[in-house]
Amino acid sequence: MLNIVLFGPPGAGKGTQAAKLVDKYNLVHLSTGDVFRANIKGETALGKLAKSYMDKGNLVPDEVTIKMLESEVAKAKDANGFIFDGFPRTTPQAKALEAFLASKNTEIKVMLALKVDEDELVKRLINRGKDSGRADDMDESIVRNRISVYNEQTAVVADFYAAQNKFESIHGVGEIEVIFDRLSEAIEKHKA
Ligand code: AMP
Repeated sequence: MLNIVLFGPPGAGKGTQAAKLVDKYNLVHLSTGDVFRANIKGETALGKLAKSYMDKGNLVPDEVTIKMLESEVAKAKDANGFIFDGFPRTTPQAKALEAFLASKNTEIKVMLALKVDEDELVKRLINRGKDSGRADDMDESIVRNRISVYNEQTAVVADFYAAQNKFESIHGVGEIEVIFDRLSEAIEKHKA
């Protein structure tokens, strides 16, 4: 199985690149943010809970997020591999994912981290908010909080994968195709 963590701050381009990687490598895209948004739309109990955190740009608690992720992985029985987008966002989530995949005799092959500077991120997110209608993209103070949460709670997850020689930093500014080539090259290095 080819399991990849697509990492980076909000607005780094994870969703865009994930869609292309899914096509190239025949993977299942699992975005925890998308699953939470679907639950909000469907007015489920999970959606209600997640919304109270997402509206402020804070993280949904680990316990809830991990349980949801595991049930989504279990749904995709015949997957060739997964692209985890927006997960793990904390070290406990990374550890839980490692244990869960090990129980299925598989593992993360590589973490691909898209690097984009903060001014560019804010610009991209505010722009995205104009089209997507995502409340957490439309308000600059929430956007900035999400970036702070990333810097304070999430960035450290890179160390977990670096310690296993599974971390690749990818320059995330430029043409979509050029960034995609950089990601593909890093995958080829770790795929075997
Ligand atoms: P995203 O679509 O990845 O930008 O996620 C949108 C929001 O969903 C985040 O700001 C968090 O509130 C929540 N969320 C998504 N993934 C996670 C996660 N792995 N852990 C905690 N909260 C998450």
